[in-house]
Amino acid sequence: MRVAIYNNQTPESQRVTKLLKAEMTKAGLVFDQQAPNVVVTIGGDGTLLSAFHHYEALLDRIRFVGIHTGHLGFYTDWRNYEIDDLVDSLVNDSGQSVSYPLLDMHAIYSDGSIDHYTALNESTLRNITKTMVCNVYINNELFETFRGDGLCISTPTGSTAYNKSVGGAIMDPHSIGFQLAEMASLNNRVFRTLGSPIVFGANAKLLLRLKDENGHLMTCDREQVKIQHRPGERHLVEISYQVAKKQINFAQYRHNNFWHRVRDAFIGGAQNEI
Ligand code: NAP
Repeated sequence: MRVAIYNNQTPESQRVTKLLKAEMTKAGLVFDQQAPNVVVTIGGDGTLLSAFHHYEALLDRIRFVGIHTGHLGFYTDWRNYEIDDLVDSLVNDSGQSVSYPLLDMHAIYSDGSIDHYTALNESTLRNITKTMVCNVYINNELFETFRGDGLCISTPTGSTAYNKSVGGAIMDPHSIGFQLAEMASLNNRVFRTLGSPIVFGANAKLLLRLKDENGHLMTCDREQVKIQHRPGERHLVEISYQVAKKQINFAQYRHNNFWHRVRDAFIGGAQNEI
């Protein structure tokens, strides 16, 4: 069992990192930041997103475990006071895992070049200089012309993040698919979009073909994607989205109820039946 630790720099995360390293050493676990079997993240969901992209090339060989040291995390099951239990689980690991879908994106540029990205949470596309206008194709057929601030395309596990803030639905993380949510669409007698989020199944293909050449901003999880180096150079023409072939794997040492987490994070308080 080779374990990597990926932490953020808050004092609490640094304290937990030190403690975990000491306990792991005592238990005879091997540290390997380059080729681990398990990556333990210490921080919040943002830290797990960074770890995911750091270890993206090794996805089919690694499993993640998240310890959260800040707010309640969606990807981070373990609390900072459960280090002993986590080390025990790592020592007794029998390869148990749970996997979740990812989003594949191909950005096609005016010079014919294609860039590929994978998102764990979502990708957003906006035009920061004017109304974003794009044709939306579902399974190669024109569905609508979107005009508005932008679009958010999220994974099932990312549905509780940005997607939720823009009115998208929360998806069961075990469902295989992805979701398209609008950001401030223009809807009137002249311009019309569906006006509600769409949840796509496992084999769906979504394509956005942009009208304008300039001003677009595309994100992939925490990062802004570099789509234009200098004005006049290649510009983004279209982006296609589908469920990725690879998935993210988590070491599942115990069961956590996703809907309890959703209730705790977004509703809170005791819920009494009426
Ligand atoms: P951030 O702005 O520092 O934090 C965004 C918040 O989203 C944090 O509280 C983070 O939790 C939480 N979060 C991340 N993934 C989540 C998930 N799958 N479900 C529920 N909450 C989640 O940004 P960041 O830490 O770099 O994270 C990047 C993510 O922030 C993006 O992928 C996007 O989803 C989200 N975001 C949301 C908005 C919005 O809602 N208006 C705007 C921009 C970005 P932790 O505190 O545990 O890290």
